[in-house]
Formats: sequence, C-alpha cells, structure tokens
Amino acid sequence: MEMAQTPLALVRDEIDRACRIARREPGEVTLIAVSKTRPAEAIAPLLKHGHRDFGENRVQEAQDKWPALREAYPETRLHLIGQLQSNKAEDAAALFDCIHSLDRPSLAKALGKAFDKTGRRVPCFVQVDVGEEDQKGGCAIADLPALLDLAREADIPVAGLMCIPPFDIEPAPFFALLDKLARDHGPADGSWGRSMGMSADYPSAIMLGATHVRVGTALFGERG
Ligand SMILES: *Cc1c(COP(=O)(O)O)cnc(C)c1O
Repeated sequence: MEMAQTPLALVRDEIDRACRIARREPGEVTLIAVSKTRPAEAIAPLLKHGHRDFGENRVQEAQDKWPALREAYPETRLHLIGQLQSNKAEDAAALFDCIHSLDRPSLAKALGKAFDKTGRRVPCFVQVDVGEEDQKGGCAIADLPALLDLAREADIPVAGLMCIPPFDIEPAPFFALLDKLARDHGPADGSWGRSMGMSADYPSAIMLGATHVRVGTALFGERG
C-alpha cells in the first residue's frame, strides 16, 4: 500500500503542475509556509522535511516562537506577511529575512531608520491594495510610484510587489494586475518578485507570475 502523501508534498506537486502548465521552472516559485497561530510542534515536521521558508503575521508571536526553532534550523528564512506598525520596525528588521507588507510612507521611513541602526537591510515587498478595499492594508495603486521613490531614498531593497485580493471574487484579474504593476514599475530585467496566492488560489497565482506563494491552511489545516 502506498503511503499517503504529506500536505507539503501535495502542495509541492500542485506548484510543479502549475509551473509545467505555465512553462515556468518550479525553482522560480518560493513556497512560504504560513505558520501564524501554529505551535512549534506543528511547524517542526515541515522543518524536518527540509522546508525552510515560513510566514508569520505578527512580530510578537514570531519573537516568541522562532528563536528556539531557528537554533535547530539556522537556515530558516522568516517572512513577515502581516501589517507592520512603525514602532515594531526595528524588531522586525532584526528577526525577519523578508518583509511583504511595506505599504505606506511612514513605514518606509521607519524601516529605513531600522535598517541603518541594525545594519541589516531586509528585502521588502511593497503591498498594493489591488482591490481598492482599504481594510487589508496595501498602498493605493495611484500612490505606488511615490512610495517606491521613498523606499529608494531610504535605501530599502525592494524585492517586488505583494497583494491580497478581495475575498469572494475571482482573484485572477488581481494577480494579473499585480504582475502588470511589477512590470511597469520594476527593473527592466524582470527581476522583481510577485508575492501572491494563498491556499485557495496559489496555482492560479503561479500561472499569472507569482514568485512567492503564501500557503497556510493547505499545509496545516484550518486555523482554530
Ligand atoms: C494567513 C495568510 C495567508 C495564508 O492563508 P491560507 O488561506 O491559510 O493559505 C497568506 N497571506 C497572508 C497575508 C495571510 O495573512
């Protein structure tokens, strides 16, 4: 009898499949296992299977949970995927390897200062409010050029764009929009990332250019 596949193996298979359809290389897509609200016991099996990219949405929770796990697995890369208060910028700069939620001028200034102080310049994705919804954070599309200018002035390494499309509506047009914004505003060599796609829609996001998919429920089950 065959062993049942782990959720991690299933998600990786789906990523490979989406890449094949889109004629992309699986190595172009980073799977971020969103471990927010999950205890260390739930995270450890993924680390044991060699998974190294994890996403958290709260600085405090990550500070509580990750130092011990990281001691065992020092090559772990931590991604901050939730809204960041400016007064936590320094803590975030010290802990995270990538920040996906740069969404406003005040935060760009705070992160610039935090990077100067810690000497760690953490790659940041600029979060764009593709659905013009306001409540999920993200900068308005019209404000993106000014925010990118500010990020440059603050010497923030911009890694690309991130979005969370509105719920309960087909997300593909929003993924396509983020991809277009990345092409319009990113470097000509196309090296910018696109952080988009969650459990319900990451194959579609990959077909539309995602380089970082943020998957929680499909790996860990429903959040309590
Ligand atoms: C929680 C979260 C995810 C993961 O969502 P799932 O539906 O559990 O895969 C992805 N991105 C962000 C910004 C999140 O807050």
